[in-house]
Amino acid sequence: HRFKITELGKNAFWLRGDEREHLARVLRLAPGDDIIGFDNTGAEYYATILKIEDKSVTCRILETSHPEVEAKTKVYLIAGLSKGEKMEWVIQKGTELGISGLVPLRAKRAVMRLEGTKAVERVQRWQKIAGEAAKQSHRVQEPQIFEVANWSELQNLLPANTQWLISYEEEKTERLHSVLDRFDPLQPIALIIGPEGGFDASEVSWAQEHLGAISVSLGPRILRAETAAIATMTMVLAHYGD
Ligand code: SAM
Repeated sequence: HRFKITELGKNAFWLRGDEREHLARVLRLAPGDDIIGFDNTGAEYYATILKIEDKSVTCRILETSHPEVEAKTKVYLIAGLSKGEKMEWVIQKGTELGISGLVPLRAKRAVMRLEGTKAVERVQRWQKIAGEAAKQSHRVQEPQIFEVANWSELQNLLPANTQWLISYEEEKTERLHSVLDRFDPLQPIALIIGPEGGFDASEVSWAQEHLGAISVSLGPRILRAETAAIATMTMVLAHYGD
């Protein structure tokens, strides 16, 4: 069983909140049982449960390792807001495939509107889904789910050397795989995917002009937004070999 560490010490770590509940109440683990902890730094800690208290679980670290499980190319998905369960599905599958982060984007034709505290709560929920998916796929770093962003905020969210791609069904010449041949896999890649209603042409020109994004086609068939997201992530991660 894998858990996200709340506090890391030299030879021990502690689990609190949901992680404590999951260990003690759901899985009913006990002192003496072995578990694995991760702290989002890329390390993994094999440990034994020492003590289970009301608010915390103390674990003694037996061994630390740095498994090569994270993708070498940092891939960020910028996803036009789609209806609830579709975003959740994309976040879960994207995490399994190895994305480094996801930015929910307020696109013009997005059916779903998310503002204020509702947006904050939804992002917290998505972060939790990413955390669960990271555990199940044995990742040691969970992807970051960013706050819901407008077009003008995108550039400041990701590193300055990010290489931008916008997946556009009206693109007739440029194909994703040939652009990937020209990109540097050691620098981050951001994939912008539209919402259910697709992109307005003005959004694509904005991304080209302000982000230097390259507009790409995924082929002659129109994919659903969530299929396009998964297909693009798979193609990028496979292109560079994990
Ligand atoms: N109406 C459908 C739905 O309910 O999901 C299809 C939506 S499609 C227009 C949504 C997004 O997927 C587009 O904005 C684009 O980013 C991407 N997409 C789908 N098919 C594509 C293709 N053949 N080439 C490039 N992008 C594509």
